[in-house]
Amino acid sequence: TIRTLTGITTSGTPHLGNYVGAIKPAIQDSLNPGISAYYFMADYHAIIKTRDPQRVHESSLQVAATWLACGLDTDRVTFYRQSDIPEIMELCWVLNCMTAKGLMNRAHAYKAAVDANVAEGNDADQAITMGLFSYPVLMAADILMFNAHKVPVGRDQVQHLEMARDIADRMNHHYKVGFTLPEAVVGENVAVLQGLDGRKMSKSYDNTIPLFEPENKLRKSINKIKTNLLEPGEPKDPDDSTLFQIWKAFADESQIDYMRREFENGIAWGEAKKQLFELVNEELKGPRARYEALMKDPGYVEAELIKGAVKAREQATPFMERVRRAMGIRPLA
Ligand code: ATP
Repeated sequence: TIRTLTGITTSGTPHLGNYVGAIKPAIQDSLNPGISAYYFMADYHAIIKTRDPQRVHESSLQVAATWLACGLDTDRVTFYRQSDIPEIMELCWVLNCMTAKGLMNRAHAYKAAVDANVAEGNDADQAITMGLFSYPVLMAADILMFNAHKVPVGRDQVQHLEMARDIADRMNHHYKVGFTLPEAVVGENVAVLQGLDGRKMSKSYDNTIPLFEPENKLRKSINKIKTNLLEPGEPKDPDDSTLFQIWKAFADESQIDYMRREFENGIAWGEAKKQLFELVNEELKGPRARYEALMKDPGYVEAELIKGAVKAREQATPFMERVRRAMGIRPLA
């Protein structure tokens, strides 16, 4: 079987982008009998991005409830919270000791953070933490701990996957621990949704359409999606439209063809938004009701997470012991 792994950072409320880009495809994958899936809540990643304890805590419940509400079967997959598996942090340190600083210097995300700080007149060396700098190492630990073969990612994460392979390769050469070299899988049909401000929809940018906001709010959020100034009757370019991008993520083939024609015929933006709301709401209303119920039952959600942690540690604990022995931290194997 192929092992796949996906994480969501607990840095805010899950949004349409997380659903379309990660949760929906992951749940489809998990039904494939040839796949053994690991899905986790990346809470130690969250503190890289936000220092608001309330936000991290609320997000943890929201992210967990979202996975469950979307139909994740926790008997089929291993579903856990990163911080419940202390071996991941332990492995992260080990990997840090095998990773050249120069490799991290080259990370696009790190370089982008440096550039952004310089542009704002900040001292990047003060503003950027070691957590942000070395986060590809934590990501490598997440992946290598469970010997994942495939990691579905957005294009921006491909480089980090190459780094994880690099680090695994070094470990294998030096200590013969037998890490699986993970591969990035970039979903060609999976869209990266834009947020309400035109940047990538992202929890940390506060530009999102929350996945399970109440129906009337969802309608309002969809009405806020940016459109250009074209009038009704003027042909509109579907391939340059956030509205159409979201439509595609929820529609079947014939609905996609239909909306493409409507765009070419110059459908009014208001009408397109109304139809988009109806399509999205139809798919989300069942899961939304389950989500609302789960949010009122944190004890149940917690019990699922504890169950997942036990399952994950059945692998992580003996695996980490092997790594310790390979390094001489424990009697040599
Ligand atoms: P943060 O701002 O904390 O990074 P995020 O909302 O950008 O949060 P992550 O938690 O880092 O998202 O990513 C979880 C998953 O959701 C990843 O698989 C990522 O590719 C996917 N994802 C995130 N944003 C989008 C988006 N705008 N469109 C499609 N997929 C997305």
